[in-house]
Amino acid sequence: MKKLLYISIFILLTILTQVGGLLFIVALLIAKKSRLNALFLFLSLYSISTFVLIPHLASLLGREPVKHTEKIEATNYLTILLNRNYVQPKLNKLLHQTEQHLLNAPFKIKYLDASYPFINKFPLLPHLSHNDGKKIDISFIYEDAQGMVDDKKSRSGYGVFVSMKQGEYNQTKMCKSKGAFQYDYPKYLTLGSINEDLKFSQKATKQLIKALLKSKELGKLFIEPNLKKRLKLNDSRVRNHGCRAVRHDDHIHVQLR
Ligand SMILES: [Zn+2]
Repeated sequence: MKKLLYISIFILLTILTQVGGLLFIVALLIAKKSRLNALFLFLSLYSISTFVLIPHLASLLGREPVKHTEKIEATNYLTILLNRNYVQPKLNKLLHQTEQHLLNAPFKIKYLDASYPFINKFPLLPHLSHNDGKKIDISFIYEDAQGMVDDKKSRSGYGVFVSMKQGEYNQTKMCKSKGAFQYDYPKYLTLGSINEDLKFSQKATKQLIKALLKSKELGKLFIEPNLKKRLKLNDSRVRNHGCRAVRHDDHIHVQLR
């Protein structure tokens, strides 16, 4: 029974944080020998790894945490705590270049899931493609009656979708009718809806996307087709992600060339 519990914890921590499962096993082994508390050991090991060891180790292997500036921040701090904030240096460069085009903009670049620190092809679930440090999701910009704000509409940053306007192409409906049952699964990943009064800022989100597209490092950008049309995005790198992915009317997906 205990073994089954440990295996479940190992799997869950590995899926959520990549390194957590392994550190959990190490903590159990040390606890057995030293009689120290396993939870205390795990939390200590995990914190030291996340904030001190992993950033160094990962950079030796080609990835680094997203660099924070006055204009670049995580939407939810859990992204950092769970080691889901690793990118190739080129992607940090792309974000930095984007920031330079937005210095006077009244909003920040808030990022969501990127990749884990180690191992190509190790997927950062539920995203299948975030497995090489070349991809990052970025939050839309919202506004209230006073103007643009940095707040978002869900705690995780995912899962609260921009309402469809009449006559717009509904890719969600089309994909689900073709059996892509996962297409709107982000609705289960909100961790709670917040700031219900905020509205999607078409103007600011377009300004953000235009700034992203100024970088030559950017290979593809995904946004739901109805929003691509609404925002009049004509750059050939703004692509349709198809039905195998999930809907992109709650965030922007950016990837390197
Ligand atoms: Zn993505």
